[in-house]
Amino acid sequence: MAGNITFSMIKPYAVQDNYTGPILSMINEAGFRIAALKMVRLTREQAQQFYAVHRERPFYNDLVEFITSGPVVGMLLEKENAVENFRKLIGATDPAKADEGTIRKKYARSLQANAVHGSDSDENAVIESDFFFSKLERF
Ligand code: ATP
Ligand code: MG
Repeated sequence: MAGNITFSMIKPYAVQDNYTGPILSMINEAGFRIAALKMVRLTREQAQQFYAVHRERPFYNDLVEFITSGPVVGMLLEKENAVENFRKLIGATDPAKADEGTIRKKYARSLQANAVHGSDSDENAVIESDFFFSKLERF
């Protein structure tokens, strides 16, 4: 059964470019409920842990460098079939391949600076939101 939560993060550049408001608005209009939200700057160690699944990939060090380059906005989102529905809303990893009207098509700068993260499975949605939010920060 598809789960009803996903974790998202507005990445550096999208935050600096002042797209936090427009991106939250798109998430809202797509019918997601925001259950937790905060702006933080990750330390190198936190970013390495968050992206640990990618540690063997050639882009891992650059990705850690990029994600720690400025503040990010993490959020826990609720909707039916949340992981899949959210990935449809954000579009392909590479914004050049993302569909019109998706968040990445509108707000990404590049494959690396692709505006937002979205969990890729129900299991990772739980792991990532537990990493970001305490019980007191969820509503
Ligand atoms: P995310 O996990 O951020 O939602 P994704 O699941 O679409 O994105 P992943 O394969 O999990 O893509 O890659 C994680 C992130 O690593 C991408 O969002 C992107 O920022 C970066 N990335 C992926 N592939 C590359 C690449 N070939 N070169 C540079 N950066 C990359
Ligand atoms: Mg991913």
